[in-house]
Amino acid sequence: MQITYTLTDESPALATYSFLPIIKAFLARAHIGVKISDISLSARILANFSEYLKPEQRCEDALEFLGELVKKPDANLIKTPNISASIPQLKAAIKELQDKGYMLPNYPDEPKNDEELQIKTKYQKVLGSAVNPVLRQGNSDRRCTKAVKDYARNNPYKIIEFHPESKTRISYMKEGDFFSNEKAILLDKDCLVNVEFLANSGKSEILKEGLKLEKNEILDASFMDVEKLQEFYAKEIQASKEDDVLFSLHLKATMMKVSDPILFGYAVKVFFKELFEEFKDEFQALNINPNNGLSELLTKIEASDKKEEILKKYNAILAKSADIAMVNSDKGITNLHVPSDVIVDASIPAMLKNGAKLWDKEGKAKDTNALIPDQTYASIYEAVIEDLHKNGTLNPAKLGSVSNVGLMAKKAQEYGSHDKTFVAKEDGVFKIVCEDKVLLEHRVKKGDIYRVNETKIDAVLNWIDLGIQRADITGSEAIFWLDSKRASNKIMIALVQNRLKEKGKDIAILSPKQACLRSLELIRAGKDTISITGNVLRDYLTDLFPILELGTSAKMLSIVPMLNGGAMFETGAGGSAPKQVEQLVEENHLRWDSLGEFLALQASLEFYAHKCKNFKAKVLAQCLDEAIGEWLENNKTPTRKVKEDDNRTSHFYLALYFANHLARQANDMELQSFFKDIALELSSNEEKIRTEFNDTQGVKVDLGGYYKFDEQKVNKIMRPSATFNAILEKIG
Ligand code: NAP
Repeated sequence: MQITYTLTDESPALATYSFLPIIKAFLARAHIGVKISDISLSARILANFSEYLKPEQRCEDALEFLGELVKKPDANLIKTPNISASIPQLKAAIKELQDKGYMLPNYPDEPKNDEELQIKTKYQKVLGSAVNPVLRQGNSDRRCTKAVKDYARNNPYKIIEFHPESKTRISYMKEGDFFSNEKAILLDKDCLVNVEFLANSGKSEILKEGLKLEKNEILDASFMDVEKLQEFYAKEIQASKEDDVLFSLHLKATMMKVSDPILFGYAVKVFFKELFEEFKDEFQALNINPNNGLSELLTKIEASDKKEEILKKYNAILAKSADIAMVNSDKGITNLHVPSDVIVDASIPAMLKNGAKLWDKEGKAKDTNALIPDQTYASIYEAVIEDLHKNGTLNPAKLGSVSNVGLMAKKAQEYGSHDKTFVAKEDGVFKIVCEDKVLLEHRVKKGDIYRVNETKIDAVLNWIDLGIQRADITGSEAIFWLDSKRASNKIMIALVQNRLKEKGKDIAILSPKQACLRSLELIRAGKDTISITGNVLRDYLTDLFPILELGTSAKMLSIVPMLNGGAMFETGAGGSAPKQVEQLVEENHLRWDSLGEFLALQASLEFYAHKCKNFKAKVLAQCLDEAIGEWLENNKTPTRKVKEDDNRTSHFYLALYFANHLARQANDMELQSFFKDIALELSSNEEKIRTEFNDTQGVKVDLGGYYKFDEQKVNKIMRPSATFNAILEKIG
């Protein structure tokens, strides 16, 4: 077994240039190999278009390799967060690679022939959340370790009070949404099905052929009525104006890469209805797609003769309509500028932590009408706001913890629906058909968004068992968050009840809203609880509660025990913090906190020790655990300010504490005697190394690219201490 470490994008990728040499050196002492696997957005683009590249530019398809690895019992993978690319990000990455001499084709928005259609299909493979669904071949176990929780309680983040008179609210559709239209069945046999569309005009089309379904899997389907969606948007824009609150939209266009950009586009079109009507022909000629947001619209109108008229109308609408919440008020970037800028699972918790306010165009915090069009999961955020009104601001110094056991394996539920999501071309019926028998059908109107979800039974049973196991190990109150009003959840509830009965266990099953209220009650009382949830809530809750408890989801331990026996360790639940790259470029300070990587490495070493019966790996795991505790106690988290200790120095301190603990332990004398000298050398050079790190800060740096860094340049930037580099050389 060797440990595979991913190279991804933005801040975690930069941090990897500094942290990986440390890992490699320490693990070499136990003869543990570490393999790097580049699954960055740029690498995934290049791997998919190798026929366009010169031989020396081609690279292996690392994602394909990892996709196979995770199915093996000896998989031991550390996964850092990667970009889930929106179309604007994908286009920017293509442009950068083209400028670097890679002869990639452009992304064809509207393919005009078969070749362009093929190109678009290939690019869609790297769009959105294309990595995690391939790698996550197991369910998910996310929690914060005791050391992290103790640290957060003793060093709570700065509280921003929630005022009881807050007008902030969560708005969602009451009818016509995915929630209202859901239908589901439990399959009674293996079958091959087709997803078909039969138009009222008589035309029919097979949209998905020969989809392999298994006995006892849950099949569900639903659609979004886009007429009702637009009515909802119009009503809430008006209501936001009348109530003098911001208008904000919260979707997940990155993960739900087919449906949510369309939902986003309708919001842009409804908000700027008069603009889209008045300049319909110009926008068509300019190939403006509202799904890509205002940013693209504003760039494309630069080429129009009518630019001034368009801008006048655009500004007039902004002036008379509700104030849109801002992503960056200094730069005039609104919530409707880029579909991937506002991602619901991160944006709502950040808002809640900020006194339930977002920012207006002057950069002032203001109450907001937060729209989450589909009601399926909106109720959990409504529950938090209700709780804040009733019980006041949450105090992180006193809160217990909500961990999560999430159904994730085999692309469960909505997160596996992208290749089965379709827009109705006309009024008609979507059908799922097995040998002439219609399993599910939905009558829709032109434009409605239809999707099909699958949930495999082995994934569900493994998830229930993992939930029971965590409840047994911790003794914490566990809750299954399932909604009996949802057709698919109704089936899951029956499966959970059967399994609990079989195992003689008693675990509550509550609707997401009730479960959220109960969890808040428990953590306010300082108790821990385990949320056992489906795939989407797994994602949402592992941002929501860590952000409320710890201030960030990046400090979470995230384990994926694979169905086939291997394991993946994800580095925190946070994303890739693009804003922090800007700071590095401007002033050579990287505030990325690698605690998630430390925790993942520790868990990965424990797994290695257990699987390979490797004693040295066990010693390394124990000493790293102690080193992380000391690192937290001594508050070696990177600061936000230039010229102070940043990501690189924080890595040095982890190495120092790791070496100290290895030198002090008495379980492995070889490691002890080797690290005695190293620990001494590291500690006697502490100030020199810090100075070498911090003196480089305060100047602009050039990474040689954004989506594809220049390795040499980044290595120099991320490893500026000659003294530290020389000690690492000695280790391994
Ligand atoms: P994000 O990367 O989590 O960033 C939001 C903010 O959270 C950051 O600006 C930063 O705050 C803070 N943060 C997150 N991780 C941190 C860390 N390790 N150390 C310090 N601060 C941290 O969320 P996002 O902007 O919504 O998403 C960015 C990209 O990440 C997107 O492309 C998204 O698709 C991707 N993503 C990937 C994964 C994954 O692969 N597992 C998960 C989530 C998101 P400050 O800047 O204020 O310090």
